[in-house]
Amino acid sequence: MSTPRTVLVTGGNRGIGFAIAEEFVRQGHRVAVTARSGAGPDGTLTVQADVTDSASVDAAFTAIEAELGPVEVVVANAGITRDTLLMRMSDEDFETVIDTNLTGSFRVVKRASKGMLKARYGRIVLISSVVGLYGGPGQANYSASKAGLVGFARSITRELGARGITANVVAPGFIETDMTAELPEATQADYKKSIPAGRFATPTEVAKVVAWIASDDAGYISGAVIPVDGGLGMGH
Ligand code: NDP
Repeated sequence: MSTPRTVLVTGGNRGIGFAIAEEFVRQGHRVAVTARSGAGPDGTLTVQADVTDSASVDAAFTAIEAELGPVEVVVANAGITRDTLLMRMSDEDFETVIDTNLTGSFRVVKRASKGMLKARYGRIVLISSVVGLYGGPGQANYSASKAGLVGFARSITRELGARGITANVVAPGFIETDMTAELPEATQADYKKSIPAGRFATPTEVAKVVAWIASDDAGYISGAVIPVDGGLGMGH
């Protein structure tokens, strides 16, 4: 097992974030989650935070540091979709998705990097999507936000790699959560046909990969995009 670490997962009250937090708890780490509503799984510390607000992110870190110590592993998972065709996409649809998924990850990682630099140790994991590199009709805002995370992780790797800090991107394909339940049945059936594995995945299948890339064993991997998509995008 990896050394027990202090872990923060944003958006850990449901979906993929909840499963990631559960997996870290199962592996014996000290786990905090941020939530805007609800709570993380049993055994986690839940703190309120909205990733679109730097002050709220800062307050969440301060509370976690007081209870569990400096954050050593951060998983920027909180994210939203606002799907619509380009011609119908408002500035607000575009900006809200970028502000949550990309700038929100920046706010969280920037705050986490303070403690990581001091400790000369850190694991940064950004939850992107297959759509970031594969593209998706009606998802110009979402795919741009998720592709942006790749450049972000690679720049962090070049900037902080010598300080014992890794930054990687996990790119899930279609995972059974509230986000995919919103897709029309016909769209879900079409996607299943194009996934070599022929099925969607469970949140736990993503969580196991996230926990591994954040483990001591994965210390020499940084700036990578790790697909968990049943072969749909194959990483690019
Ligand atoms: P859900 O919609 O089930 O959960 C989204 C989570 O993000 C919730 O915890 C939500 O909190 C939180 N969140 C959203 N906006 C904010 C905000 N402004 N501040 C803080 N928290 C926020 O999504 P999934 O679990 O499906 O997705 C998790 C991540 O995985 C996302 O980044 C998503 O893009 C990515 N992903 C998902 C895929 C899928 O198939 N499901 C595929 C590829 C990537 P609240 O409950 O308060 O709204």
